[in-house]
Amino acid sequence: MNGPARPNTRAKRPVIGLTLDAEAAGGYSKFPWYALRQNYCSSVAAAGGLPIALPHESSLARDMVAEIDGLIVTGGAFDVDPALFGDTARHDTVTVKPGRTDFEIAVTRAALEAGLPILGICGGEQLLNVALGGTLIQHIPDAVPNALAHEQPNPRDEPGHDIDIVAGTRLAAIVKTPRMSVNSAHHQAVKDVGPGIVVNARAPDGVIEGIEDPSRPFCIGVEWHPEFLIDAGDGRLLAAFIAASAARAGS
Ligand code: MN
Repeated sequence: MNGPARPNTRAKRPVIGLTLDAEAAGGYSKFPWYALRQNYCSSVAAAGGLPIALPHESSLARDMVAEIDGLIVTGGAFDVDPALFGDTARHDTVTVKPGRTDFEIAVTRAALEAGLPILGICGGEQLLNVALGGTLIQHIPDAVPNALAHEQPNPRDEPGHDIDIVAGTRLAAIVKTPRMSVNSAHHQAVKDVGPGIVVNARAPDGVIEGIEDPSRPFCIGVEWHPEFLIDAGDGRLLAAFIAASAARAGS
């Protein structure tokens, strides 16, 4: 009790909430189940965070935000309902997961209100853009002439295309390089950003690959998957997010 103080290393780790995916009955369980690719968590742990998963209990979104120091909105093989950004028509390729999106909008809005560091990844970047008042391209091949293969045919632990980082942005200061090689697993992308939001990365075909809110300490969305740690900039991005979350935890 009065012995030498032992460092509590767990207390030093910022708690990072990661949104889960939802699957219908079948496969893992005969009842609906949650899912999350493991490297979302292992990359956060390796960067110094304490990863925890956030279930789709929308009424508890504020309670969750009160317990975490940073929020990662993850990706998934589904789309934000176009009605949420004012599109009345829905492209044939669009699939939705209303329960997941309802929760992700709720937890993202709560995190924005609380001033929590937020990192949106792939579909999470698209969700973040919609939460910030922006719109989405519903299907890149039908909207962008001569678009790159943003659903890359090669494995997703390899790069799919390069991106150019926009000079002067937070992202540029974090990744410390004007160009990255990133994976690409999306058929949608940011169309228009919300008020005050800045584009921080683009693919060579012009598709927006990242956004940020310069008015917030850390509010960044990227269309690629930094958790695969393919480019040196990926690790720097995760490290900066964890550092911002740790600063928040210590304040
Ligand atoms: Mn891409």
